[in-house]
This record gives sequence, structure tokens and C-alpha cells, in this order.
Amino acid sequence: MRRIYLDYAATTPTHPEVLAAMQPYFSETFGNPMSLHAAGRRAQEALDASRHTVAQALGADPEEIVFTSGGSESDNCAIKGVAYALKEKGNHIITSTIEHHAVLEPCHFLQQQGFEVTCVPVDGYGVVDPDDVEKAITSKTILVSIMHANNEVGTIEPIAEISSTCREKGVHMHTDAVQSFGALDINVNQIGVDLLTLSAHKFYGPKGVGVLYVKKGTRIVPLIHGGGQESNRRASTHNVPGIVGCAKAVALTVKERSQRVQHARHLRDKLIHAIQGKVKDVRFNGHPENRLPNNCHMIVKYEEGESMLLKLDALGIEAATGSACSSGSLEPSHVLVALGISREEVHGSLRMTVGRLTTEQDIDYVKDVFPKIVAELRKMSPMTQ
Ligand SMILES: *Cc1c(COP(=O)(O)O)cnc(C)c1O
Repeated sequence: MRRIYLDYAATTPTHPEVLAAMQPYFSETFGNPMSLHAAGRRAQEALDASRHTVAQALGADPEEIVFTSGGSESDNCAIKGVAYALKEKGNHIITSTIEHHAVLEPCHFLQQQGFEVTCVPVDGYGVVDPDDVEKAITSKTILVSIMHANNEVGTIEPIAEISSTCREKGVHMHTDAVQSFGALDINVNQIGVDLLTLSAHKFYGPKGVGVLYVKKGTRIVPLIHGGGQESNRRASTHNVPGIVGCAKAVALTVKERSQRVQHARHLRDKLIHAIQGKVKDVRFNGHPENRLPNNCHMIVKYEEGESMLLKLDALGIEAATGSACSSGSLEPSHVLVALGISREEVHGSLRMTVGRLTTEQDIDYVKDVFPKIVAELRKMSPMTQ
């Protein structure tokens, strides 16, 4: 059966050129970059080149790039790293109600250790008001962490405005740019942040590799102590193949970004129009304009997200939901709740995210199949009787 993958926000298939770039670093060039011999030097050269590529893509210096094991580690490293480094200065952290768990959980963890955390709210589109951040800043605030674009509803946040407030007040600013990097040209100086997170597998790189940009002069306490790699910011022998793959994925993203965005936006809009025209009682979420080009997020009223996913999957379509019980969680998505969507409606949430390999035919197929699935489920639903 034909499989149609519409879950690019969860992960993406590794680009063939990325895979090819990684391959030699598993075999011929297997050295440890810290070793003082030719094999080590060759690995070190690959590492240096990768760091240079990533730095250039972000408008950063190579020394400001730390390679990690992924987006979660980069977020943890930024938040706990700054909190521990500046704990003499203050104990207050500001974040938002719609952050990824990789940001919210380290904040909760720090709360248990005596740090104070303020979660600023969002409006109905999921936008953070920079004034709310400004008002929340106190003399004890050491860090503001607001995501660049939301992974569920695709809304893009006014990061440059928030960071300019932070700069004025002398507070560090971190942004999780895991979802946005594939769609937006990110220059760390233009958006004015001190720390920024990327994850390679969200833009056609390998899983298990991430980047943390740390602006010069920003102190972080490492999460992993050991051999002093990454200028004492992250110990452990470098994942050379992964890092090479990450850098290749970054370079390809920069090169292909505008085409990818155009392709995604066209198919996403086609998908939205198709659903709008054929399914009743559907509402689309997230900001209508300031949003990721590949994200389509909807509430299908009187529906259960899981039931829709199962039916879709049985017909070859792979999507996601923020409904309760999905992926083992008993709680409905905190993001959708923060948007003010009622718990009842959250149950009918469905996210479809398109990408590089999505085709017109894929969307045509969804257009045919999805309205039938909804009609069938609604026939059985007690809520529509
Ligand atoms: C996927 C994701 C992460 C986690 O990245 P991993 O590399 O999977 O650890 C963090 N933040 C956002 C916004 C994400 O979408």
C-alpha cells in the first residue's frame, strides 16, 4: 500500500546527500578528533569544517557552536546551563505556555531546586506578546526562553522584539528554533538571541545530533562533564558522522530553503482548501499568516484524534494529534489548552505537516480519503446523533 507521510514536524527522512556525506565517517575516517595522530586529525578537520558550515548558516562564529545529541539536549543545556552559571545573579526564568517539553521540563526541574519560573500566556493564535515578557522581567530574571516557531500549530513568535527587550534589561535570551530553521533564514545577530537550539533530524539530517549556539561571553555550566570536548561545554567523544550529517543538512537547507518553502506552502494550502471544501465543522489553528509553511493544524469537531489517526493510518496516511492518550500521554496537549481551545475540542485535533517528498498526488489522495473517514466516524459518534 502507498504510504503518505504527513508528519514532517515529528521527524524527516535523512536526505540522500546527507547519508552519503556521513558514510565515510563510520569507516575510513573513523578517528577520534581528540587523538594526536593522522586519523584523529582527519576527524578533527571534518569537525572543524562542520562547525564552520553551521556557524556560517547562522551568522555566528565557529567557537559559538556546540554540537549536542539533539534538540532536547540543546534546550536542557541552554536552560540548566545558564541557570547554574548565573544562580548567584538571580533565580528567575521566563518561558511561555506553549514551549516544547524539552524546555518546560528543565524549567520544572529547576523550579524544584528553588528557581522561579514564569510562563507567559499566548493569544488564541499562539502568539506571545513581547509586552508580557517585558512585564514579567524582574531584577532576579536571568533567562528568557521563547520558541521561534511552535511545533504543534506552526505559529512563529516575535523573537527579535522579545530579544531586544531582554538586551535592554541585561537578561539572556534562548530560543528553540528546531521547527523554524527549515523554513526561515535565521541569523543569530538579527534575531538577537544569546542561545539557540537546532535539531538535525527536523531538517533532513540524522537523529541524535543537535546544535546549541552560545553567544560569546555567555557562560553555561555543562550538563555532561568529562573529557572537555566542545571547549568544556559538552564532554563525550564527538559523534563525527552525525555532526558531518548535521552540517550537510544545514548546508542543503540553506541552499534549498526557498524552494522547499514554496513547495510546502503550495501543498499545505492545497490541503487546507481541500479539507475546508469537503469537511464540515473544521477549524484551522495557529496564526493565519505568521506560521510555518508546512503546518496544517485543525480541530475536527465531534471527533477523536486517535480514531482519525487509526483510520488514516489504515489507509496509508500518517498524521499526528494533540489529543489525550496520544503517544502514551493522558493529558491533552498543553499547547492547545494554552490557545484557549476547550478540552472537548482538543480531542478532535489533527496535525498534518508536509515536506520535501510530499507530492500533489499525496494531497489528492488525502482529499479523497479524509472526508470519507470523517463522515464514517461521525456516523458512529454519539456527539453527532
Ligand atoms: C523535536 C523538537 C525538539 C526535540 O528535538 P530532539 O532532537 O528530538 O531531541 C525540541 N523542540 C522542538 C520545538 C521540537 O519540535
